[in-house]
Formats: sequence, structure tokens, C-alpha cells
Amino acid sequence: MTAPHPETWVEVRPQGLYVVPGGFYVDPLRAVDRAVITHGHSDHARAGHGAVMATTETLAIMAHRLGEQPDQVKQPLAYGEVARVGEVEVSLHPAGHVLGSAQVLVEYRGSRMVVSGDYKRRADPTCAPFVPVRCDVFVTEATFGLPVFRHPDDRGEIAKLLDSVRLFPERCHVVGVYSLGKAQRVIGLLRAAGWDRPIYAHGALLPMCALYEEHGVRLGDLRPATAGAKGIPKDEFRGGIVLAPPSVIVDRWARRLPDPVVCMASGWMRVRQRARQGGVELPLVISDHADWDELLQTFDDVGAPEIWITHGREEALMHAASARGYRARALALVGYEDEGGS
Ligand SMILES: [Zn+2]
Ligand SMILES: [Zn+2]
Repeated sequence: MTAPHPETWVEVRPQGLYVVPGGFYVDPLRAVDRAVITHGHSDHARAGHGAVMATTETLAIMAHRLGEQPDQVKQPLAYGEVARVGEVEVSLHPAGHVLGSAQVLVEYRGSRMVVSGDYKRRADPTCAPFVPVRCDVFVTEATFGLPVFRHPDDRGEIAKLLDSVRLFPERCHVVGVYSLGKAQRVIGLLRAAGWDRPIYAHGALLPMCALYEEHGVRLGDLRPATAGAKGIPKDEFRGGIVLAPPSVIVDRWARRLPDPVVCMASGWMRVRQRARQGGVELPLVISDHADWDELLQTFDDVGAPEIWITHGREEALMHAASARGYRARALALVGYEDEGGS
């Protein structure tokens, strides 16, 4: 018996990617009865599902962000553990994107599909590294699916930040970071680069940092960045590093800091215009997504003859994948966007 092609047992529905013989969606875009969730970013992990299967870390992130949802059935699955769901077998494998992020391997009668969610290939001190899983169909995002997107070494970007801190000891560096993933990664990179002084964080970032620490990710001396009358004396921030959500780095909140150098950590900082429009003085190209080369490298590593692209810059990636001998298909799923700040 030949294995049934995933095209015959996986459907693209308005709610998202549906595994028919398992009766579940992967990262559904609206509330469904049964969901398998790759990671905690809000475009992938939505509220209101009847049952959710995910890593323990992702379930914790969802509970923190969406509230407890007492009626929901939660099914934690460790990396590599296999669960039978309906007529399929499901297992989760590290995606290297954020804490708890997983690729979903679905096996049905000898046919294997991997839904990668969001992923990256670079080392990240705050989450388990991506593991290539052999499959017949690899489902990928294409956030940075254009040849112009080649991310530099993140250690070089952190070195730029530290050079600037040394150059302007009277100023405070305020770095825009999204709360899930980027904040903790920037802290981890700073620690790896030898920055052992306190790092200050806007209050909106602290709970997720605490959740990371509860799951064994050490972030070092992290303090709330409450400047001014009731908080830390303004002068203490001189020569210091403050992390904050991107929405506040150029507003009144940041102006309470001493002469702030506005920085932003995102894969989009590759696009100079974006940095300029956002009032960013020091752009740091640090991304939690695979860049162009890593997308193509990953296709080779998983050995799938066929690539399905969920969202992002599908056209160029489809073309490049086809040119390399893959069968490529755009799923055009609408509703995944860029909550993680990429
Ligand atoms: Zn994500
Ligand atoms: Zn995403």
C-alpha cells in the first residue's frame, strides 16, 4: 500500500489547516473544537478552543496571555513524545523560535507532514534549537522569503549596541523588543556578550521574563524601569540598557529616561526606511525567523519533496523552491501576521 499524499488528508479551511483523520487544526485562526498549537505568539495561539495540544511552555504562555480558560482541555506534549489523535500520530519537535515553540509532525498511514509554525536556525540562548524532521510535506512560513533578507550575525548586532553604550556613557539606550521571545533573547545575547550589569525592563515585559525564568531560562539581574519621581533616580539609567515594547520607545515614557538612544531589535530593521520611520537611531537586525538562505537550507535539511507555504512572501520563495526541484504550493492562509516583531 502506498502512503496517502497529505493533499488527500489535509484541508485548507477558513479556520486554518485541518487534519481530517485527526479531527484537529494546527494554529487555527479562529476558535475550534480541537487545536494543536506551535507556539505562543498571538496570531498562532488564539483563545476559545475546546481542546489544545502544545508543549507545557506554550500552554503556560497561552494561560498567561489569554487567561486560564477553565473549560478548555489541555494536553501537554513534550518534544519527541508521540500522541495518538484520531487516526493520526502527533509529535512536537523544537522550532528554535521562542520558548516552547514546536514543529508539529503528523503521521498518517506512513505519510508524514511537518507544520513548522515560525522557526529560525540560529542559536538562541532562550529556547531549544530547531531540529530538522524528515517528512513528505514541509509546511513553512515565508516572513523573510525574499533574497534581500539575509540576517547578520546577532552577536555583531549586540556588539553594535554595546559599542554605542561605551561611546555615549551619559545617555541611556532604550531597545524596542516584543514581549515574547525577542525581549528574553536580547537579554540572553547581552549576557553572553559579557554584560553583567542590571538590565532594566518596562513593566509590560516583566511577566513574560518571569515566565521564562520559571522554565529555567536565566536572565540575570533584571529590574523594573520605573524612572522619575517614585522610581529609580534618572541618573542611574545613564550608561544603562532599558528594554521596552516598541510602542513606547519614542513616546513620553522613553523621554523620562536620560537622553535616550532609541534602538529597535527586529528582522525588519534590515529595511532602513522602517527604522527611519519608526524614529529608530540604532537599528539592530535580530530576527526570530529564518532568513532567505535558512528557509532554503531547511528545505534541503528536512528532505521533503514538497513545500507548502502558509504566509509571508510566498511568490519568491515558491519560485526559488521550484527552481531547486521542490514541488511548492502557496496555501495563502490569511490571519497570521507579525505579532512577534519578527
Ligand atoms: Zn511567532
Ligand atoms: Zn507567526
